[in-house]
Amino acid sequence: MNAASYVGRFAPSPTGPLHAGSLVAALASWLDARAHGGRWLLRIEDVDTPRCVPGADTLIIAQLAACGLHADEPPLWQSTRGAAYQNALDRLLAAGWAYPCSCTRRDIDQALRARGTPKTRGAELVYPGTCRDGLHGRTARAVRMRTSLSAPEEECEIEWHDRRLGTQRQRLSDAVGDFVLKRADGLWAYQLAVVVDDAAQGITHVVRGEDLADNTPRQILLQRALGLPTPSYLHTPLVLGADGEKLSKQNGATALDLRDPVSALQDAARVLGLAVAAVDLNGFLAEAVHAWQCTLA
Ligand code: GLU
Repeated sequence: MNAASYVGRFAPSPTGPLHAGSLVAALASWLDARAHGGRWLLRIEDVDTPRCVPGADTLIIAQLAACGLHADEPPLWQSTRGAAYQNALDRLLAAGWAYPCSCTRRDIDQALRARGTPKTRGAELVYPGTCRDGLHGRTARAVRMRTSLSAPEEECEIEWHDRRLGTQRQRLSDAVGDFVLKRADGLWAYQLAVVVDDAAQGITHVVRGEDLADNTPRQILLQRALGLPTPSYLHTPLVLGADGEKLSKQNGATALDLRDPVSALQDAARVLGLAVAAVDLNGFLAEAVHAWQCTLA
């Protein structure tokens, strides 16, 4: 590909400092951009304000800088992007893709119970479709995205390619159900914000942790409905905590030790399957870019 046309990004949620797990995604996205001679951008995903920790954004930027990972443009904060998300939502509403929903979690639970076994997806319930045909006098709370059109044969099955995981397929209506674009508390949902911003920042390549792979079909559906391009995707291996779950604050992740960024980077490189010997920061980064380039060949 034309090197100048590659735009990658790292998009952390400022819910805490970078740790060994999030550094893997940061390093992989930076390496892929550098190996392609492309640009690498930073986006602070601070839409879920109750989960954001004050100061975590500046700390993450400082941690990245200490690791030699510098963005090619000033960071974009999602909290400044409400008008763009509203514009996208209005277009989806006008096209009939999005619809207002009055259901509380309890309503959804009850509707699912009335039909038999509630279908769950982690802690999430697969939406039973109560408000798909209108509110019928009920009060709108959230806005949802349709995952099937009116005729049953028009189910949205999304097939996509991941550079590491290969061909993936998900039938959104069964696996996820109509999903939230704007929450009842007025906050924008991650799926809408990420799609609008990846397009606005001209992102051509998304490199991020494998825990996010399952969101990709929802994001592709939104891209198609909004007439936006679909980037290339690569989901990187996860670092697991002692409990076998993805490393997070809850299972023992600690903030990166900024006094020794190279050893943190060495660990991240190992997770990515790269053997990098250099022990000084610049030497490490140059060797890691070369090693990553070899994996692209
Ligand atoms: N903000 C998301 C997170 O930190 C990542 C979003 C993305 O890379 O698409 O988990």
